[in-house]
Amino acid sequence: MKKELHITRLTMLWRCGEQYYRRYVKGEIVPPGIALIVGSGTHKSVEENLKSKAEKKEMLPKDVVKDIARDYIEKNLLADNVLLNEEEKEKAFDVIKGEAKDTAVSLSELHYDKLAPKISPVAVEKPFSLEIEGEDEFTIAGKIDIIEKGRIRDTKTSSRKMPGQADKSLQLTMYALAENINEKKEIKKVCLDFLIKTKELSFETQESTRDKKDFDVLINRISNALKQLKAGIFPPTNPENWWCSPKFCGYFNTCKYVKNK
Ligand code: SF4
Repeated sequence: MKKELHITRLTMLWRCGEQYYRRYVKGEIVPPGIALIVGSGTHKSVEENLKSKAEKKEMLPKDVVKDIARDYIEKNLLADNVLLNEEEKEKAFDVIKGEAKDTAVSLSELHYDKLAPKISPVAVEKPFSLEIEGEDEFTIAGKIDIIEKGRIRDTKTSSRKMPGQADKSLQLTMYALAENINEKKEIKKVCLDFLIKTKELSFETQESTRDKKDFDVLINRISNALKQLKAGIFPPTNPENWWCSPKFCGYFNTCKYVKNK
C-alpha cells in the first residue's frame, strides 16, 4: 500500500527541509505558537459555518460561530503546550489566553459579517488523494478547504498584508488539480480570503487563476520533493526568509543552520 504524503507536509518541505527533517524524520514535535492556535480556532469556526451553508443552505447563528472559536482556544491554548516569545513570557497566562480568545472571536465575526454571506460553498474540507504517474511509493493527500461552483477557495489569518499569494499558492494549485483529475471538473478560478490581524482588523480577498502550466510546475515540484525524500536530503532554508526566526520556527533555538543563542 502506498504511503500518503499530505499537502501540509509537502508545504513544510518546500518551506524548509531541515524543519521537515526535525518534525517528520526525527519526530520532534514543538508546541505551536499563539498565532497558529488563533489561526486554527478561527479556521474551525469558518469551517463549521460554511459546512452549514453547504449542507443546509444557511449560516449558523453568529453566537454559535463565535463560541466555536472561543472554545477552540480554551481547549487548545494550554500553559504547558504553547511556544511563547519574550514579550509574551512577560504576561500572565490568563491575559495571553484572554487576548487570544478575543482575537479569534473577532476574526470569526469579521469573516461571518463580511465574507461568509458572499461565499456559496458546495463542499467544505473535502478529502482528496492524487496519484502521481510513475510513483509507486507515495500518493498525495489532503483536504480542500472550500469548493464553490468552478472555484477553489481558502481562508488564511495573517498579521500583515501578503500581496500576490493567490497567484503563487501551491496549495490552491494542488486543490484545483485534484478536482480537475478526480472529479473531471475544469476549475480555473482560485481565491484566498485573508483575515488580517493588524490593530484594526481587516480582510482582503485575492483572486487568481490556474492553467496547465501551473499544474505542470506543481507536478515538477512534487517529483523533485519525492526524490528529495527518498534520497534523505533536507536542505535548510535561506536564513533571510521571514519564517526562519524564533517567532515563526519552533526549531530556531536548537537549529544548527542558524546563529542562535
Ligand atoms: S531555524 Fe531556519 S533553517 Fe532551522 S529549521 Fe527553522 S526555518 Fe529551517
